[in-house]
Formats: sequence, structure tokens, C-alpha cells
Amino acid sequence: MGGFIGRILDIDLTSRTYKIHSTKEEWVKLYSMMGYAIRLLYEEVRRKGMIDPLGSENTLIIVAGPLVGTYLSGSKTAFVSISPLTGYLGKSMMAGSFGTMIKRSGFDGIVLRGVSTTPVYISIVNGAVEIRSADHLWGKKTSETFKVIEEEIGVKNLKIAAIGPAGEKLCRFACIVSNEYRVAGRTGIGAVMGSKKVKAIAVYGESTIEVADKRSLSDLVRKHGEACLKSPRANALKSYGTAGGLVTYVLDGNVPIKNWSRGVFEDQDPAKIKITGQVMQQIYKSRGKSCGTEVPCVIQCHKEVYVDGTWVKHPEFETLALMGTNLLINDPGALITINRACDELGLDTISTGAVIGWAMECYERGYISKNDVGFELKWGDVDAVLNLINMIAYREGIGSILAEGVARACKNIHPNTCDFAPHVKGLEVPAHHPRRYYTIGLVYATSNIGASHLQGMTFLLERGVALLPEYGVEEPPKSLEDKVRSVIITQNLCNFLDSVGMCKFPVFGVIDFDHVAKVYSAVTGYAVDKDEVMKIGERVWYLERLLNLNLGLKVVEDRLPSRFSEEPLNEGPVRGSVCPIGDMLKLFYEYRKLDKKSGYPEPAKLKELELDTGLQ
Ligand code: SF4
Repeated sequence: MGGFIGRILDIDLTSRTYKIHSTKEEWVKLYSMMGYAIRLLYEEVRRKGMIDPLGSENTLIIVAGPLVGTYLSGSKTAFVSISPLTGYLGKSMMAGSFGTMIKRSGFDGIVLRGVSTTPVYISIVNGAVEIRSADHLWGKKTSETFKVIEEEIGVKNLKIAAIGPAGEKLCRFACIVSNEYRVAGRTGIGAVMGSKKVKAIAVYGESTIEVADKRSLSDLVRKHGEACLKSPRANALKSYGTAGGLVTYVLDGNVPIKNWSRGVFEDQDPAKIKITGQVMQQIYKSRGKSCGTEVPCVIQCHKEVYVDGTWVKHPEFETLALMGTNLLINDPGALITINRACDELGLDTISTGAVIGWAMECYERGYISKNDVGFELKWGDVDAVLNLINMIAYREGIGSILAEGVARACKNIHPNTCDFAPHVKGLEVPAHHPRRYYTIGLVYATSNIGASHLQGMTFLLERGVALLPEYGVEEPPKSLEDKVRSVIITQNLCNFLDSVGMCKFPVFGVIDFDHVAKVYSAVTGYAVDKDEVMKIGERVWYLERLLNLNLGLKVVEDRLPSRFSEEPLNEGPVRGSVCPIGDMLKLFYEYRKLDKKSGYPEPAKLKELELDTGLQ
């Protein structure tokens, strides 16, 4: 099986021992690699029952799909666990070279079980595994951690994934940051790593990753590169990164403004909006980069800006929206500083921005006071935001309540504040707007990890930027029926891409899934077409659903915050619009063949997907 190594490293932190298992080819064929991790987690849940996400029984599984390190258009490593925010499936994809090094070091993935009694970091160099003391690293920010580990291991081109103080303090939306400054941002995976007392994992390897058909693959790579150069979407990403989309999305009504309560930002005047990729590149010297040294991606949407004599990460669209438009901050320098602070502390910028936006609304409406916070918490106050970010990461004062995530914090502050707490199943809502694109509301409501835009990038379909004629989506979906169908199609396709380790940006609106199927076949040697691609993604979606149902998921949790479905805005591009989530959910349950009361998939559906044996 090309693209796979055939071995998984399984580390027990409690006993500080490890084993190496063979990768099961049967599971690889059914689910590819992220799905494989979810199946492993499923087996754990079946064996152990309910799992405390921050307890010793939770398992953190890191896998690199077959395309990681073998294909030149994007490379994503999956981090899978039970989420401390939701209590259900947690997963997050990290771009960059970390997964490539896991594979070159001789593994398809790493499983972390149990809990260490003292802080440790894991070194894996050319297959040699060491569990080292991290006493001297505990408490350090991420950049300092990278520096010390790089010096201690002394290997050039070492790839490191580490937590910051937020992960150590078990902030429920802590992330994992790589020394290429790519992050596994969502669902609190960093807190799981912190609960195991693992400060970092450092990997380096030199072995070759074999593919099934090198000649076909190089032809496919060339064609994909040509498609990227011709694609307006890829070229826009290449020029300004995801930050380039901010101005369009503000004018379109597709951003959060003042915790989703306003529809106008800076008078909707492009000349007044300073936090776009375009403006930031006029102010700062900038450069485009691939995600990592081993990922020579043609698009290079990862941007850096030169600030105070050093190159630093350019904030992504999601960060600019959640920390910028959402908090009424229109200051590019401030957003670069906020972004750096979150990366250094190991905080997910989406959840952090959403939590702070909600806290600012609590303050404005009198649910929390200056006394509670220690300072005024007014919209647009950059110093207040930076203070709060630190307090969240270190769990100081009210920061400790906010570090629990907005779903728990609202119950603590006042039940009324839950009415404007933006989350689904406990995961904070990202930047795309359900009043503007109804499909993204349904994606949030039915995603197996809670509110995530990357579990179905339907706003691209509704905008007509990316269509999928190979699956019958030849124009932007207009009827509710077509919108729901497009959600299901993209949920499946996003799951396939995550499972094989392929970045979504060089695909949607750039290349069709006939091409993606050929790439998968050339790498693995499995003869698949676009229908089989869809089926693998669909199978993984239902497997995730079964996992969540086993963890106690109820149908009432497939929901959207009422602000999007019951509170129309009286201004701006989405004035008067609310997301018809109830009608869409009914259709979704019908098309997905889910029981209306229990939420379980019909047995015939599970049989069709070969999920009918040993899984319920
Ligand atoms: S498109 Fe952007 S995110 Fe994706 S691999 Fe390339 S540089 Fe990384």
C-alpha cells in the first residue's frame, strides 16, 4: 500500500513505554488515515465507556494520511481525540511538515495514552523513540520551547509540535503549535496534550515514503500545478493569503461583527477597513511561503510580515474576523500582536475571539463588571483584549471561567448570557455567517466536532466560487433541498481530504475530484474513482456520528445558536435574514437517513457503507 508506512507508534505515558503496531490495511482501505484514527478512538470508547477528555483514559492520536509527504499540493496532519470542549469527537488538522517527518521517521501515526506524572517531551529521530523530561520547559511559551528542544536534540530540520501555557493550564480551547507556526487549532486538542503532561513532540526522519505509481503521480502533480496557476481562487490565495478575503466577506455580510449582533463594519467602506491582507501588505514588507519546509505547495497562502526586524506570521482570515471585526478592532498592528500572543500561549484564535466577543457583550449588558474583570472591557480596546488573552491562558481571575469555553462560561456567569453564546455542541462559532450562507449554518449544526467551517466549505459553493459538476452541483444551490444536498456532499468530501492528508485550498475551486481520485490511486495503488472518494468520506462521517452517539450525543444538540435563526439584523448586507435551520435539519435527517428521535443512522445505510458489523 503506497503512501502508508505500515507501522503505528503507541506510547503509554503512565508506564513510559511504547509498542509498535502494524497499520491495519483493512481499516486503511475503508477510511484512509484520519478515519483510521477515529476508528481507533471508537474502539477505545467501546472498551472504556464514557471518557473524561482531560483524564488518563483519553487517547490522543496523531496520523499522517497517504498523501502527506508524497504529493506536492498541501499536506495536513490529523490530531484526533475526545474534545474537552464538546465531550465528543475532537479533531484538528495541522498544515506543514510535521506529518511528513512522522512518516519519514517510520510511522503512519503516534498514539498517546495515559498520563505522565511529570512533564515530558517525546523525541523521535529516525525511528528512535525517547521520552525526555520537560521539567525545564513547563511554563515556557512556544517559541522558547522550540528553541530549547532544537538545541537539545541538535538535528537540523527537526519538526516540533508543542503546547504553550494555555495547554498546560488545561484551557479547553488550547491548541498545538508547530515550529513552522502552523496549528492544530480547534476542539481543545492542546488541553488534551497538556493533561497528559506532554509539552512537545519532536520528529525527524530520513527514510523514503514509497508511492505506487511514481510516473502517473508526477504527471498529476504537473497538471495540478498548472490548474493552480490558472485558478482565480488559487491566485487570490497566493497573492494575499486567506486574509485577502476579508474585505470581500465584510462587504458580503459574511463576518461576525460585535458578537454577531451588528451588520455593518466601518460603514462598509473598503477605504476604511485596515485589517485586510491587501492593506497589511502595503504597510508591511511581506512574503508568501508554503506551509512548511517539506511542503512545496504552489499556492503558498501562508504569509509572513516583517515587523520589528523579524518575520512573523500574518494573521489568517479567521483571526482577523474573530479578533478584528468581531471585537471592533480595525488596527492591523494590533491584530499581528494578538495573533502572536495566541501562538506563543497556545490558544486557538477562533475560540479565543469568540469567547472575548461574548464577554464584551456580557460587560456591555451588565452581566459582568469592571470589578469582575479588573479593568474595563469595551469593544475595540486592544489592551483589554491582550490582558484577557493572558488571563485566559494562565487561568487568572475571570480568565479561568473564560478558559472553560463559552458554553460552560455562560452557565457560570448568568444563564441569560447563554442566549448570545456562539457555539455548537460547545465549540465556538468561526467567522462564516449563517444568516448570509444558510448552508454554513447547517454545516455548523451537524458537524461532528461542533461549529467548524472546515467540515463543509459550502460558502464557496453558495458564492459560486467553487462548484462540483462532477457530483451534479453545476450552479450555486438555490432551493433548500439543493442547499442541504450540497452540505452533505461537501461534508463527505472534506472528510475524505482530511483523511488522506490533503489541503482543501488547492482543491475546491481549483481542481476536480476525478483528479483527486487519480492522485489517491497513484499514491496508494488502490483503484478509486470520484464515487469511491465520496464513499470513503461518507463512511468517515457516519463513523464519527456513531462515535458521538456512543458518547451520548442527542438530536437536540444538532442545533444553531438562536441568534442566527431568530434574531435578524436591522442593517447591512444580511439585514432581515435568518437561517432556516429547522427546515434544513428536517431535510438533512431525511437525506442522511438518520432517525428523528435517536439520531442513529438507519441500519440499511450502515450496511451500504460497511459499517454494520462490530460498530454499534
Ligand atoms: S494552500 Fe496554503 S494552507 Fe494549503 S498547503 Fe498550500 S500554503 Fe499550506
